[in-house]
Amino acid sequence: MAQLAVITHNAIKDMGVFFDCYIPVQKNISTVYPADKLSDLNGFDAGLVNFWSFMLQNYSLNMVTIILPFTVLLLNYVFVCGFMWFIEQCDFSFLRKYKIQPKKYNSGSKIFWATLYLLYTYFVIILPMYTAAFYILSQVDYFSLEVFDVPNWKTLVWQIAVCLFFEDFGHYWLHRWMHTPWAYKVIHRRHHEFDAPSSLSTSYAHPVEIVIQGIATFLGPIILRPHILTLFIWVNVRQLAACETHSGYDFPFSPNNILPFFGGADLHDFHHRTYNGAYSSNFVWWDVLCGTDNGYFEWKKKQQSKREKDTSDEKKDN
Ligand SMILES: [Zn+2]
Ligand SMILES: [Zn+2]
Repeated sequence: MAQLAVITHNAIKDMGVFFDCYIPVQKNISTVYPADKLSDLNGFDAGLVNFWSFMLQNYSLNMVTIILPFTVLLLNYVFVCGFMWFIEQCDFSFLRKYKIQPKKYNSGSKIFWATLYLLYTYFVIILPMYTAAFYILSQVDYFSLEVFDVPNWKTLVWQIAVCLFFEDFGHYWLHRWMHTPWAYKVIHRRHHEFDAPSSLSTSYAHPVEIVIQGIATFLGPIILRPHILTLFIWVNVRQLAACETHSGYDFPFSPNNILPFFGGADLHDFHHRTYNGAYSSNFVWWDVLCGTDNGYFEWKKKQQSKREKDTSDEKKDN
């Protein structure tokens, strides 16, 4: 295991040398946090500082700001989608009751072509976009890379909350616009090829839509200008939330069953199934404020009364 870690560490360093030839970055960044100040931090905050200090001291800036974050984002997607695909394919009987559309499964060929398209999306659209954005933004010091500015857990929590708020705002209005006739036909239709979404369909979208969704994701960070580590944590949180929203499963521990006003998979599955409002990505307040949630809540009411009728019929039979 230790040997594997050394091999990985050396490989990342060598890759850094390769990328430095093509994407030159010249910056003087503080990489060491004073030991006396470090001892004042709690375990989580000290861990984050040590992690960032290690990254800056051992790997080139291109690796730390572009290649490694992109790889983590991709692995995050592959792992979550792979896991959800496994659950869907195995069709475990004890999980069937949590599947939002129990009779609807995506065919193997649909999943195969979507996977190929997603690989194309990640390597041909997202990676170059990501590289250009981080190169330009780090060159103009838009986001701090300094080890002294690494956020503590409180800063991390409120900044992620603000990013969620702005993402909800941007996503709602851009998504709603993409349901106007022209934008739907030209841009958004591809994402709706999955009328029974699975996590794999999260980033299955027209390249223009990938850029448009990126605007909503980056709205909070552009306003806040947080530490780059916060930005990396935020984009992974956002991707996990989007994969959950497209999972096709409504578990008792799903965020919409824990957090008030959270739409999650239940709401977004309704959107993919009916094309009737429910444009929110995380929290539903924009749908509620603008009255685009009516169809969803009517359907919820019908479901509830059907459940109550089934329960009373069962009691009568007994
Ligand atoms: Zn839509
Ligand atoms: Zn969707």
